[in-house]
Amino acid sequence: MKNLKLHIIFFLLFSTIVYTSEKPKNIIIMIGDGMGINYVSTNVISDPNSPFRKFKFIGLSNTSSLDKLITDSGAGGTAIATGYRTRNGYISVDTLGNNLKSIFDYAEELNKSTGVVVTSSVTHATPATFIANVNDRKKETEIAKQFYDEPLEVVIGGGLKFFTPKSIGGAREDEIDLTKKLVTNGYSVFTDINSLMTNTVSNKFYALLDSAALNPTLERKYFLPELIQKAIEQLSKNKNGFVLMIEGSQIDWAGHDNNSAALLAETNEFSNAVNYVLEFAKNDGKTLVLVTADHETGGMSINGGTLSGENLDLRFTSKGHTAEMVGVFAYGPSAENFSGVYNNYFIGRNLIWLLKPSVVF
Ligand SMILES: [Zn+2]
Repeated sequence: MKNLKLHIIFFLLFSTIVYTSEKPKNIIIMIGDGMGINYVSTNVISDPNSPFRKFKFIGLSNTSSLDKLITDSGAGGTAIATGYRTRNGYISVDTLGNNLKSIFDYAEELNKSTGVVVTSSVTHATPATFIANVNDRKKETEIAKQFYDEPLEVVIGGGLKFFTPKSIGGAREDEIDLTKKLVTNGYSVFTDINSLMTNTVSNKFYALLDSAALNPTLERKYFLPELIQKAIEQLSKNKNGFVLMIEGSQIDWAGHDNNSAALLAETNEFSNAVNYVLEFAKNDGKTLVLVTADHETGGMSINGGTLSGENLDLRFTSKGHTAEMVGVFAYGPSAENFSGVYNNYFIGRNLIWLLKPSVVF
């Protein structure tokens, strides 16, 4: 009898261990802005080693905003960052103007480090949804001020002008030089790629590598994987872990322009970034990687090309966004939570629950 009881206890313990999925220490959210399944298809078709072939847990996300079938990046990012839908153009505030807490806020409460790596201005809609709360995505100088107020560990991208005064060529009418204030607060601030890449100082840092957006990938001499390497190097120093958001920002812009060459190049750069991050996560073993998009752009379809993906003939039905579902590709601890078909805010809720299961939405 005693033996039987022991067996039951062991069985219960064992089954709990087996069926409770492991929680990630680190989370890396990768957003290809505008990157519909059609964009992912170009990569899978033309590259036998496409990183998208490596995922076992895949979902489909319905990207609508609170009041519109077709979202913008403000509302799309808000759903992923906070777990709530809002109106187009809003940055992590609800329709009454209340601030919505983002996954970065929850991570910071747990003493995890947070950071962003993007190819737009760092104050652009998607990265802004993780850090700022404003009712108009165009208020980028206000968003920059809110960046300054957050305990971010790593910020890499463009948008230097939103941090610097008008009198010295910036965009700040209040004449506040946020770069100087950041230095006073213990940050290193880099304004060119060489000083970032040669930096060996172990400070938290901002790398604002252009006045507004970075150059498009076809005109740039450095690429997302190098920037991500610098970010992870710094973020990994925190033994409590980190949450990093990476955006292939200009995939969307190529879609708006109906520019096939730029679309393929931007998607390719982002895919290389996914490969880099998957390699890190594989070696690390404690990192959840989530690759998704905020919406599709251009209503693109692949109308021809060779079997191996050369000379792809891309056609477009729109100069704007569409309501096509987008893919959600998950790897690492708790990746299985992201399988299925769901609304975009489910991504945010699921991510936040991994950090704090008691949050009620
Ligand atoms: Zn767009």
